[in-house]
Amino acid sequence: DQTLSELDPEVSAAVNAELARQRDTLEMIASENFAPQAVLEAQGTVLTNKYAEGYPGRRYYGGCEHVDVVEQLAIDRAKALFGAEHANVQPHSGAQANTAVYFALLKPGDTILGLDLAHGGHLTHGMRINYSGKILNAVAYHVREEDGTVDYDEVAALAKEHQPKMIVAGWSAYPRQLDFERFRQIADETGALLMVDMAHFAGLVAAGLHPNPVPFADVVTTTTHKTLGGPRGGMILAKAALGKKINSAVFPGMQGGPLEHVIAAKAVSFKVAASQAFAERQRRTVAGAKLLAERLTRPDMSEAGVKVLSGGTDVHLVLVDLVDSPLNGQEAEDRLHSVGITVNRNAVPNDPRPPMVTSGLRIGTPALATRGFSEDDFTEVSDVIAEALKPEFDAEALSARVRALAAKHPLYPNL
Ligand code: PLP
Repeated sequence: DQTLSELDPEVSAAVNAELARQRDTLEMIASENFAPQAVLEAQGTVLTNKYAEGYPGRRYYGGCEHVDVVEQLAIDRAKALFGAEHANVQPHSGAQANTAVYFALLKPGDTILGLDLAHGGHLTHGMRINYSGKILNAVAYHVREEDGTVDYDEVAALAKEHQPKMIVAGWSAYPRQLDFERFRQIADETGALLMVDMAHFAGLVAAGLHPNPVPFADVVTTTTHKTLGGPRGGMILAKAALGKKINSAVFPGMQGGPLEHVIAAKAVSFKVAASQAFAERQRRTVAGAKLLAERLTRPDMSEAGVKVLSGGTDVHLVLVDLVDSPLNGQEAEDRLHSVGITVNRNAVPNDPRPPMVTSGLRIGTPALATRGFSEDDFTEVSDVIAEALKPEFDAEALSARVRALAAKHPLYPNL
């Protein structure tokens, strides 16, 4: 058998170039992370060859005895990690997980109440041209202009007015913790189901640094590749009573064969997530984000028109508000890219600039914490970011500081 580089030098070269990019730059996209080598290894196994429609012990194909072991390990570890009664580890992605939940528990035309995309919600929480917004009647709640936090009074009022079948709590760009108890109370008052999409903060929950939504929600969905640090994929946790409906919505409702090689990698990542080392890494993740927020809220930054939404952070990301800055989101993203830091531009609530340009940045710390960044390292990278967002900046000097940080923390030394 030929190796990848022998068989397909073009693909191989692009993969190697991507490894070099990940090594040489500082990854601060809040939804990204570096999966451990053991996770990469599990994902690159012969399990990719196996069809296993169905669930452990009840498959529609022969020869599933070994993938059954793997999938059961993933299920048991997921349940233990989050204290869940039921786990489905088959969704191919976070979007698939959410879609499966809607498919399991709602009918076309039913009303859902989710956080507005422009206020930090996800596409699958009811965006107009997403499946969720097309098939369902999506109503949106918002964050308050004064402090950038979810307006629970508005959630309650909208729930009363629209009587949603399901309330969706969760976000892709929000720097604070949600009040799950309050969401549960609002859901109970209006007879709605509560789904929490913890895709972004699942790693913090696993580490005990963020309230766990599982006791409050009927269903919890997540991706496995963000703070959780596993392979790209999705997962659904639910109350036992909903387990059958969820399982049949995933398969045969929405998917065919599960990706057992990815499920193996999920199992490995759940083992990692139960460790002390993982909890310590999540602690550095949050500490790093807090240091960044602190650096970006100093007087010299507000003079440069740079602010931080909600004034700080409790999680793994900071939302930078550039409404008063001469730099727009695109220019700020390009500037940081030019010094070797990767972030993504992000609309701020009521953004005056168009969606392809935006007036904000979303900057996250999970990948750098995984890479081993200490609080001192996070202070240094925060200072580099702050300097890069000022009107005058020295690209050469900042690039050198970024290169030094990258060199200090080698990535995937054994690859
Ligand atoms: N849910 C939330 C809150 C997300 O932020 C994301 C991804 O950005 C998803 C779901 C979708 O995950 P995926 O990209 O794996 O479909």
